[in-house]
Amino acid sequence: MTKPVLIVGGGPAGLSAAHALASAGQKVVLVEKEDRLGGAPILDGYAKLVPSHEWAKDAIGAMVDRVQGREGVDVRLNAQVQSFDGEPGAFTATLKDGTKIEAGSTILTTGFTHFDSVNKPEWGFGTYPDVVTTVQVEQMISSGKGIRCPSDGRVPDRVAILLCVGSRDRQIGREWCSKICCTVSANIAMEIRELSPKTNVYIYYMDIRTFGLYEGDYYWASQEVHKVKYIKARIAEVTSDGKRLLVKGEDTLIKRPVSIPFDMVVHAIGMDPNVDNMTISSVFGVDLNKYGYIAKQSTYAHLAETNRPGVFVAGAATGPETIDDSIAQGQAAAMAALNFKPAGKVAAE
Ligand SMILES: Cc1cc2nc3c(=O)[nH]c(=O)nc-3n(C[C@H](O)[C@H](O)[C@H](O)COP(=O)(O)OP(=O)(O)OC[C@H]3O[C@@H](n4cnc5c(N)ncnc54)[C@H](O)[C@@H]3O)c2cc1C
Ligand code: SF4
Repeated sequence: MTKPVLIVGGGPAGLSAAHALASAGQKVVLVEKEDRLGGAPILDGYAKLVPSHEWAKDAIGAMVDRVQGREGVDVRLNAQVQSFDGEPGAFTATLKDGTKIEAGSTILTTGFTHFDSVNKPEWGFGTYPDVVTTVQVEQMISSGKGIRCPSDGRVPDRVAILLCVGSRDRQIGREWCSKICCTVSANIAMEIRELSPKTNVYIYYMDIRTFGLYEGDYYWASQEVHKVKYIKARIAEVTSDGKRLLVKGEDTLIKRPVSIPFDMVVHAIGMDPNVDNMTISSVFGVDLNKYGYIAKQSTYAHLAETNRPGVFVAGAATGPETIDDSIAQGQAAAMAALNFKPAGKVAAE
């Protein structure tokens, strides 16, 4: 294809697609709305990643480095597509600054939006400063400052991590499982224990979904090696007794009410559809699924296709995904875009 492939979104999925296409000699234009590439792991300052234990800034930073400045890859930061016209093999994307980009095909790798915990007010976020999210804890760890209560900077004696915040919750319209947060939470719990051995960490759960090989390396290792404690519970509310936070609910194993004091409470937040998805749907003419993620055309036969010929999708734009799956999907979308032949043409020009 002589025309470039337009990739929208510079996270792990978009970076992987760009690298795969550039390696095949295909020109790429990569449009990213923020001022940096890297997606959530870089923009939100994640610490050590599951499952490689590499720092996000190193692992995803290396993906950025092999794309940025590379011949054949035209990176546009602080940019968004305002309109998208034409037909497969001959699309024109107009950016918000008026710049026009000619593209043979497009890959949407626009990712997800972190669940905003203010939508779960009964669990204390926004009311108590020491109720934080997993993203905030990732940032504390990656900044090198360690685990500290935001209210007064003390190192907490007791931390509770509450799973499924903004996931598996029909009452707030989010019935999906965000897939990675059980494992990420076990990983964070182990990191807290390593950074501060005096800190006791409790994980409150409905079910544990440390899927596949993560069961041994995270679920069991967090308990057996790092002495993290798990409580199967239905949480009613997070309040305060004036000194410490109180997590109140029912222990569903012993079927008794429990109220336990903590210094810090962490919401393991889920992966919402990208807040831009309504706009992306209308600009690119792609369908969303019933949850609000970009709809995949088919799971097996036409991997990465959307309903619009020549427009592909990969990564967390399609639903909660891990980084390694997002990378794999980015490569699959790159292959689909590379082999794409508009109807009636022998090869896309
Ligand atoms: C707290 C937390 C920790 C996690 N830790 C791990 C982990 O350790 N291991 C793991 O496998 N997974 C982890 N994940 C999941 C991981 O964040 C995702 O798998 C990954 O970010 C998905 O990559 P992506 O490229 O599809 O999307 P994203 O990372 O969301 O990247 C999308 C990119 O597109 C850009 N964009 C969005 N909209 C537009 C637009 N309209 N125009 C232009 N650009 C746009 C965004 O700015 C962003 O750069 C974690 C998730 C959470 C919530
Ligand atoms: S991965 Fe675990 S914490 Fe995340 S939504 Fe699924 S069950 Fe809940």
